[in-house]
Amino acid sequence: MKNFILSLIALILNLSLIFAQTVDNKKWGSDIVHKWRLEHEVGYAESYEKLKNYVADFVAKHPNGYSPKSIITIPVVFHVVLSPTEHSSFLDLRCIENIGTLNTDYSGTNTHSMSDFPASLKANCDIQFCLATIDTSGAATSGIERRDYIGPDWATGDNGVKQTATGGFDAWDPTKYLNIWVCNLEYGMLGYATYPTVLDNFYGLVIDYTATGTTGALPPYDLGGTASHEIGHCLYLSHIWGDSPGCTNDDGFSDTPIQDIASYGAPTGVIFDDCQTTSPGIMYMNFMDYSDDIAYANFTPDQKLAMQALFAPGGVLEPLTTSDKCGIPQSNDSVFADFQATTARLIVQGQTVGFQDNSTGNISSWYWTFQSGSPASSTFQNPLNIIYNTPGIYDVCLIVSNGIYSDTLCKQGYIVVTTQPWPDPNGYCDTISNNLPTEFPLTFVNLLPSNWGYLPGHNGLHIKAYADKYVNYTFNVISQLIVPVSKAWASLPSSTIRFKIWSGSSFPQTELGFKDINISNMTPYMYYPVLFDSPIQVNGTFFCGFELTYSTPQDTFTCYMVNDRGALGLNTLFVKDSNNTWRTCDDVFGIHTSLGTMVAGCLSNNLVNIEQNVTNNKVAVYPLPSSGLLNIDFSEITLDNDVEMRVFDLLGNELKIPKSKTSENLFKIDFSLQTSGIYFIIIRYKTQLYKTKVSVIH
Ligand SMILES: [Zn+2]
Repeated sequence: MKNFILSLIALILNLSLIFAQTVDNKKWGSDIVHKWRLEHEVGYAESYEKLKNYVADFVAKHPNGYSPKSIITIPVVFHVVLSPTEHSSFLDLRCIENIGTLNTDYSGTNTHSMSDFPASLKANCDIQFCLATIDTSGAATSGIERRDYIGPDWATGDNGVKQTATGGFDAWDPTKYLNIWVCNLEYGMLGYATYPTVLDNFYGLVIDYTATGTTGALPPYDLGGTASHEIGHCLYLSHIWGDSPGCTNDDGFSDTPIQDIASYGAPTGVIFDDCQTTSPGIMYMNFMDYSDDIAYANFTPDQKLAMQALFAPGGVLEPLTTSDKCGIPQSNDSVFADFQATTARLIVQGQTVGFQDNSTGNISSWYWTFQSGSPASSTFQNPLNIIYNTPGIYDVCLIVSNGIYSDTLCKQGYIVVTTQPWPDPNGYCDTISNNLPTEFPLTFVNLLPSNWGYLPGHNGLHIKAYADKYVNYTFNVISQLIVPVSKAWASLPSSTIRFKIWSGSSFPQTELGFKDINISNMTPYMYYPVLFDSPIQVNGTFFCGFELTYSTPQDTFTCYMVNDRGALGLNTLFVKDSNNTWRTCDDVFGIHTSLGTMVAGCLSNNLVNIEQNVTNNKVAVYPLPSSGLLNIDFSEITLDNDVEMRVFDLLGNELKIPKSKTSENLFKIDFSLQTSGIYFIIIRYKTQLYKTKVSVIH
C-alpha cells in the first residue's frame, strides 16, 4: 500500500505541475485520486462497481424519488493540521461557518440563481451536518481538533494528513463521524474526497484551509462550495459532465443535462455547449460542476436519490444515521460553578474579601464579578483582596468554562459591607425561602380519593420525609426554621415530627442536624418556629425539611407549600418514598413546588461564639420581603415590656418606624413609608435577641 501511495504522490506531483499551467484545475483532486485508485489499487475498481450497482438498483426501485423518515444529520469532525501562523488565521468560526453553508446547500436553500432551470431541480436532500459534540471516548468536544504541522504542503491523495503517525490526525470512527481534514494543499488545490466504496479510516474529505468557511477564506472559494462539492463525492456523486469530455458520457442522472466539459469561473444566465444548444443550457450551477462558489446553487432530485441510497437500510453509510455524536456529552464533562469566601463576608467598608473556587469539572477559565467590589471582575481561579468601599449588600458571580460548557453561579447578597463594625459581633441574620412573594397564599393538597392524607405531610403513600433544596443563601449557619403548619393532630402526647437539615447535591444525603418537635405543640394555620439546639453550619447546597413516622393510631402533620407551578415550573421539593428512595415531588406527585418553610440563618464571622447568637424560638417574622406591614408574631401572649423592637438601615442608623400591637401576641411594623431596600430588625423578647434582615419592596 505504501508503494501505491508513494507512486500516487509522484504521479499527482507530475500531473499537478502539468495542469497548473493549463487550466484552472483546483477542484480536480477527487478525480485524480479516484482514477488513480481505479487503475492501481487492488479491489477498488470492483468495490466501486459494486457501489454503482447498488445505487442503480436503489434508484430503479424508487422511480418517484425517496425521502428518509427523518432528516439525516451527520456528525462532522474537523481535523485541522496547519502551521502555527496558519492556525492563528484559521479560527474555529471557519468550521462552524462551513457547517452552515453545507446545511444551506444540502437543504436546497442556497439562494443562488438557477438561471432558466425550474426551482424543482434545487432539491432538499434531507441531509444536514452538525459539529460533533461528543468525541470517540464519550467526552465533550468542540468538533474541531488542531495540530501544528511544519513541513511541505500536503500533496493531493497523500493519506499522511489522515494519520497521526505521519503528522496528521487519525480519523474518528467513520461509522459515527464524517471526517474532514483541513490543511494546506500544494499547488493551490482546493480539496479532494473519497467515494463511499468502504467506510474506512481514509473515508472523508481533505480541504485547503483557504477554501474552508467564509470569513477570511480566499475568494472565489469563500462561500463553502468546496466542502459541498467534495462531500458530493463522499456521497457518491461524480462530476456533472461525466468526468471526461464529450456528449456521450454522463454523470448517470437524467435530471442533469449532458455536458461536454467542466465549467469554470462564475457563469451567469443560460450557457450552451456542444451538448446543450437550447435553453436552459448546461447546469453550471450544480455543486458537482467546477464553477466558483458564487455560481453554485443546487443538487438535483436524482442526485439526492443516489445520496439517500447510501443511508437507506443496507447502504454503506447507514451506520451514520444512528450516530449520537452531536448529542449531549456525559455529565462528567460538564462543569459546575461553586465558590466560597475565604475571609469574612460581613465587613466594614474598605476591608477586603478573598474567594476560593470550589467548582468541579475540567475547568479552563474563570470569570468572577464582584458587585461594587474593586476590581469589579477577575479571571483568577482564586481572587484575593477584593476591596469593598461602599456600604451595601452585594452579589458575587462566578462563570466557569471548560471551553465547551460553562456554568454560572451568583450568590446574592453574599457580601455585607457596613460603615462601622455591626454592634453585634456575631453578624446579622437572614430569612430565606424558596417561594416568591407573588406565590402566596400557600396551599396543601388533600390526596383523597386516591390516597388518604396530605401533601406535604402524612399520607397513604407513606412518604417518609420531605426536603426542600437550597443553593443560594447568604448565611453560614442555620439557627431555625419557620414552619407554616396546616394540619397538626397528635395521636399520642409524645408524637413528634423531626425537622432536619441535610447536605447533598442532587438529593439529601448527609444529616447535618435535626430537632424533634411535639406535634401537640404546633397549631394549625400558624407559623411555628423550630429552633435547633445549636446552629447548624452549612456550606453549599443544603436540604431542609422534616421526617414523619407512621403509627397506629395515625398522627397527622402537614405544612404548607407553593401552588403547583406547572410542568415547566421550578421544583425544589424532594420526597422520600416508602422504599426510602429520594425522588422529586414532580416524579411522585406530578407537582412542581417548594415547601412554604422559611430558613433563618446567620452570617457569623466568629463561629466559636455563635451560641450567643441564638435566635428566639418564640417569634416569627413575615412576610419577607415586605411591601408594607411586617408581622412580628409571638407564639405566646406578651406584655408590652417583654418586647422591644428596633429598626436599622444598612448603615446602622436607627429608624423611627411606627410599630403597633394588633393582638395579644402580634405586632406590626409599618414599612410603607420607607424606601425600598434592606433593613435590619433587632427584637428583644424578654431576655433574648432576635435579629433579621428585611427586604422592603414597594
Ligand atoms: Zn470533484
